[in-house]
Amino acid sequence: MKKENKSKERFCGNCDSHSAYYYPRQVFCMRRFTANKEPVVDTLWHCEDWNLGAQECCCVSEAKKQAETGENPS
Ligand SMILES: [Zn+2]
Repeated sequence: MKKENKSKERFCGNCDSHSAYYYPRQVFCMRRFTANKEPVVDTLWHCEDWNLGAQECCCVSEAKKQAETGENPS
């Protein structure tokens, strides 16, 4: 069966280079880290080097949820 790759929304949170940092609002980007750029970025941001992550994770959906409710865990 052909797996349809829908045009996914581009977010750091579903990029293959991210890992949870300040979950779910911010992620740590390995790509930027190795490029000597600020590695901690917003989950719902993305850069030109965005590459869809192989695994689904909850970062994007959780970040969206928080953005909607306006919750600010600080
Ligand atoms: Zn994630």
